[in-house]
Amino acid sequence: MSASQTVSDQIDQQIDQLVAENALFVGNHSGGKDSHAMLIRLIKRVPAKQLIIVHASLGEMEWPGAMELARDQAAAAGLPFIVATATKTLLEMVERRFESRPEVPSWPSASTRQCTSDLKRGPIQREVRRYAKANGFKVIVNCLGLRAQESPGRAKRVPFRLNERDSNSVNTWYEWLPIHNLSTPEVFGIIEDAGQKPHWAYAEGNDRLSCLFCIMANKHDLKNGRKQNPELFDKYVALEQRTGYTMHMSRISLLELTA
Ligand code: SF4
Repeated sequence: MSASQTVSDQIDQQIDQLVAENALFVGNHSGGKDSHAMLIRLIKRVPAKQLIIVHASLGEMEWPGAMELARDQAAAAGLPFIVATATKTLLEMVERRFESRPEVPSWPSASTRQCTSDLKRGPIQREVRRYAKANGFKVIVNCLGLRAQESPGRAKRVPFRLNERDSNSVNTWYEWLPIHNLSTPEVFGIIEDAGQKPHWAYAEGNDRLSCLFCIMANKHDLKNGRKQNPELFDKYVALEQRTGYTMHMSRISLLELTA
């Protein structure tokens, strides 16, 4: 037996144990292909009474139809669906930062990902804690559709761990990446084998799906975002010009990247 097989067997045992102990499994669903495929797997593995789907809504910043895809998948499986909303939008976050500290870059950086923590992780945690309290769950297994192939940073993530930072005297949190080892074709294969369709933006050539304009997106996805919502694109460009900083991690302006 190989070392990776041993690790994956150990994870399987821990997950079985957590299912038996009545842990709450939380499927983070962005509407993208990875969370879509992850949920297909979770539904087969975790009893419905211990599984909820959470979507962090980015409002007009996110691809149209992403929230609806997550909602419909949850409804088809008879699972609770929770939308977590931040108290600010990405553009408001940038504006506030510019007003308070104009001397530092106003947009989130790829390394600190303030957008992910403030607009997604924080609001999701708040909603999950609320749900766990109302329904008597003490142990939470937060499931994310992150894959090793996506980036060197994600390749380094361990597929299952105790999340000490988010655990407290009330809740114990684990983080589980159920599709960490899968390739992109395998992800699309899972969705197809289930007789489902991924979000329509993939058919338009999108590589990833979340914000229409992501600090880490490739040029093609940014161009698609611009085509999809030119008014929102103009707001991003206006804010780049007002702050004097670029949104994209390449430090190239959105106008140039999408030319
Ligand atoms: S999709 Fe990109 S820009 Fe949007 S919250 Fe995530 S990292 Fe930030």
